[in-house]
Amino acid sequence: MPFFSQAKTFEKLWPVIRSGVEEVFEDGKFSHSRQVGRLEDALARYTGARHAIGVNSGTDALVLLLKACGLRPGDRVLVPAYSFVATATSVVLAGGEPVFTDIDPDTYAMDPARVPRQAAEGARFVMPVHLFSRMADMAAVTTLAGAHGLRVVEDSAEGIGMRQHGVHAGLHGRGGVLSFFPSKTLGAVGDAGAVLTDDPQTAERVAALRHHGRTGRTLAHFPGISNETRHVGHNSKMDDIQAAVLLAKLTVLDEDIRRRAALARLYDRRLRGLPGITRLPAVTGAPDEVFYVYLVETDRRDALAARLRDQGIGTETYYPRPLHLQPCFARLGHRPGDFPVAEAASARALALPLYADLTDADVERVCDAVRAFHTGRVPA
Ligand SMILES: *Cc1c(COP(=O)(O)O)cnc(C)c1O
Repeated sequence: MPFFSQAKTFEKLWPVIRSGVEEVFEDGKFSHSRQVGRLEDALARYTGARHAIGVNSGTDALVLLLKACGLRPGDRVLVPAYSFVATATSVVLAGGEPVFTDIDPDTYAMDPARVPRQAAEGARFVMPVHLFSRMADMAAVTTLAGAHGLRVVEDSAEGIGMRQHGVHAGLHGRGGVLSFFPSKTLGAVGDAGAVLTDDPQTAERVAALRHHGRTGRTLAHFPGISNETRHVGHNSKMDDIQAAVLLAKLTVLDEDIRRRAALARLYDRRLRGLPGITRLPAVTGAPDEVFYVYLVETDRRDALAARLRDQGIGTETYYPRPLHLQPCFARLGHRPGDFPVAEAASARALALPLYADLTDADVERVCDAVRAFHTGRVPA
């Protein structure tokens, strides 16, 4: 059983995907064209964003969003110490400096109560991240931002479908992003991403920055103004083949999310109370709960992962090294012990298989193997 696969989903959707991809070939433009415009409309409808701007990855979405929100060289950005590395590298790529903060052990997201006053006072942005199956507490983040005059930008790369107080992830501050990396909840067949924002000026800047800084040939939402290059931009446009695949997959996204929730409930019933598993994710059915990843914690994480691998069950460690201890941030001078909650999560967290293609029997098999490992019994 692989950690992730969408072979069955693709088989089921193939007629829809094929006709979308055929249209891309008929159009013959392939990049930044009609299907991308359609996907942007569909994403805006799905999330409730006033603007959804398609780009080539979640990482570039973060870089362009930070720049469009007025990040100046050297600006400090509060980010959690526990996340995918692109959360912090995107800040550097945009010209800023990440300032790490510890996380809340329940949500794995930035915990505003743990942000030192001095760090908040020296920063200009705060970038919470929504990881695995829950959102950061955006009311608390907004309060922190208000107290220190910080601009809020969300790394909502994993957050499609998550809503807090009725507002989709990415739309609680100046804007957010989506990643469509193949293994994400809504995955493409390669790299793709999007920026979400309600602010027209931010949207227009992102639209120019993804296309060499040109304000000329952009999509329908920003009809040709001129063909001059006012700002030095990036080439971060989205491919239409990715957009065609994503449009097809968007039609089954809610069904997919419900299936993931059902599998998470099954994991919860089978694993709760098992000795050796020190933490299971909350399964409450709250609107901000969307299971991108089902993550458990155990004292013997690496041994459990090895045992499951021997039995043909794939797992992943998210994220095995906290960001403040990554070699690329050594110059910031952090030491083990600086962010204990983030470090504990990095040492103990293991993601089990969770995707729409899995059957209940697959999940039972994973749970039997986990139980056998922790009780010392071999599954029948
Ligand atoms: C996936 C991810 C990204 C980066 O997205 P890509 O599309 O892979 O560039 C950024 N932040 C988080 C939290 C992610 O999970």
